[in-house]
Amino acid sequence: MSAPHDHLLAPLDLGFTTLRNRVMMGSMHTGLEEHPDGFRRMARFFGERAAGQVGLIVTGGISPNAAGSLGLGGATLDDGEAGHGLITDAVHQADGKILMQILHGGRYSRIPEPVAPSPIASRINPTAPRAMEHDEIVQTIEDFAACAQRARDAGYDGVEIMGSEGYLITQFISPRTNQRQDDWGGSLENRLRFPIEVMRRTRQVCGDDFIIVYRLSMLDLVEGGLSWDETVRLAQALEAAGATMFNSGIGWHEARIPTIMHSVPRGAFTWATARMMGKVKIPLIASNRINDPDQADALIAGGTADMVSMARPFLADGDFVAKVMAGKADQINTCIGCNQGCLDYIFKGKICTCLVNPRACYETELEITPAPDSKKVAVIGAGPGGLSYAITAAERGHQITLFEAADRIGGQFNMAMAIPGKEDYGETIRYWGSQIKRLGITLRLNHSATAAELQAAGYDEVILATGVRPRELELPGIDHDMVLSYVDVLEQGKAVGERVAIVGAGGIGFDVAEFLSHHGGPGDPAKPEIDRWLREWGVDRDPSHDGGLSPDGPAMTSPRRITLLQRKAQALGRGLGMTTGWAIRAGLQMKGVEMLGGVAYRKIDDDGLHITIDGEERVVAVDNVVICAGQEELRDLHGDLIAAGLTVHLIGGAETAGELDALRAIEQGTRLAAA
Ligand code: NAP
Ligand code: SF4
Repeated sequence: MSAPHDHLLAPLDLGFTTLRNRVMMGSMHTGLEEHPDGFRRMARFFGERAAGQVGLIVTGGISPNAAGSLGLGGATLDDGEAGHGLITDAVHQADGKILMQILHGGRYSRIPEPVAPSPIASRINPTAPRAMEHDEIVQTIEDFAACAQRARDAGYDGVEIMGSEGYLITQFISPRTNQRQDDWGGSLENRLRFPIEVMRRTRQVCGDDFIIVYRLSMLDLVEGGLSWDETVRLAQALEAAGATMFNSGIGWHEARIPTIMHSVPRGAFTWATARMMGKVKIPLIASNRINDPDQADALIAGGTADMVSMARPFLADGDFVAKVMAGKADQINTCIGCNQGCLDYIFKGKICTCLVNPRACYETELEITPAPDSKKVAVIGAGPGGLSYAITAAERGHQITLFEAADRIGGQFNMAMAIPGKEDYGETIRYWGSQIKRLGITLRLNHSATAAELQAAGYDEVILATGVRPRELELPGIDHDMVLSYVDVLEQGKAVGERVAIVGAGGIGFDVAEFLSHHGGPGDPAKPEIDRWLREWGVDRDPSHDGGLSPDGPAMTSPRRITLLQRKAQALGRGLGMTTGWAIRAGLQMKGVEMLGGVAYRKIDDDGLHITIDGEERVVAVDNVVICAGQEELRDLHGDLIAAGLTVHLIGGAETAGELDALRAIEQGTRLAAA
């Protein structure tokens, strides 16, 4: 990350206004849109990002009318300007520019009576939509334009019209969802009428000096999606109707192909934006799984796009651009694509935040302020919890010594980054390392601290963040040579045979299945295997294939025969993240991984793993059994520290191993230090 990033930092002249650089903070629903204190909190959230020098910000989606809101009580702007002025003031005070995204959910809206071009239900909404009347369509176009005008009145520099991801506008465009026989359906010309009219009226109402970005579906990734020629025709018509720029949308929400999660190679879809270059004259914005300034700069330098959109990377680090400008890109807290703190929270109805940055969307309450007294603190364990504590406490002015028994920092993240598709977890370790240096934290690797030395050194407080150890099972044959732990496989690199049973189907069991079913070694983030990945998931670059889908479908294979087992009598993988679990499960199923629930383990011997399932005994004939049966707290030092009279705080896995994940450990460490 040492390139000068001149292309990314170059201003972008839009004729009537100029953006200070080529980085857009893309739209993300945070849940603050509907929160009673949301405008104040969003003002701080966006204001900090504007102060962090991002070129252009887009808000989460706001509906132009009640029918378009994503759920009951969803954010709309159909009257007055609500509190949006707070947001625009905060951004403008930091010399930033901000657009409000206008999004009509159509058949994706989880309201009692969703509307759509045709009454065709979506797989992701249990309520079927009602077909819109002609007058209702005309009124909806007016609602888009009026909403944009209200956004302008509230001080926004423009709007982004959401014309991708399967929402209402795309529903009009695709014959998959539009089977009307009137002026709004049938021929391509009729199906494109709705988006073009929305653009035309919005431009007419808002005037020439107002940014109108249209989020164009470059690839629908669903059956019945637009062909490439049709997409170009739509883009050219929208340009003529008044669009200022096109942002890239990839895949409808109901697509069965992941588009942003960790396993999607960085920049996997930017080729779709690149092939639109030259087809229209207005600037194009690339998006989806772009999180690295070097790659972002190269996309612009290489003519793939004129600007780059990153959404989640600005949850992870609001100062992304400021750090690039200062030549400190190595200090960026990189989004790792986990979705755990952001999208998974939104789907659970929680306020969005970020696994690697718990301050995201909590800026008004989680303040990192200088401590009144500087304390001398020992942190034992340089995993996610201990590191998060150490960095935040050092930021506040405490003197921190960080002890780690291993020869490197990062704890369980070292194993996570070995999983194909999770290489970006290594970026978090790089970020932690950069903060240790920046803040002058004393790091003592290869050192198992003792209570006596900590007492003798006179620490004011001790943070015990020693993490977890793998759970040991009491099972006949557990000492057999074929038995390995996940640590043996992921950390020690021990050889694994062609037939494998994985005992335990939590996050780590699935990770190990992913690791063992991958061809070749772990991926290299600098060389994402985009073509292999696209082929595996059935995405085709051939422009003659509608929606970007390969007629041959997905093509996944595994070099091993894997059986993944759990005792619970339920579908495997229920505990995985809502927005990533479906793709992890689907990928492994396509690779032929057998998933068995409701098993009882009997023994392990030369024949393999003996189980009982559905009342019958079965032998899973394997070369290796990998134990991924959860963890137990590792806090052997605790008693000694208490006996030595030290003030001790237990955090992360050392406190409670059950249900531990990095989200909890990082948040706990950060909040304890902030307090
Ligand atoms: P986990 O999620 O608690 O899963 C442990 C697995 O072991 C379960 O499938 C459990 O299923 C089984 N198990 C528990 N006790 C057992 C016993 N005595 N004998 C046999 N099987 C037993 O733990 P983990 O997989 O080690 O993951 C640790 C943490 O890291 C979790 O919070 C996890 O969410 C997180 N993580 C998340 C991801 C992710 O992708 N989001 C990836 C990796 C890790 P049964 O009891 O039904 O057999
Ligand atoms: Fe990125 Fe994960 Fe943070 Fe979401 S929670 S912004 S995916 S690092």
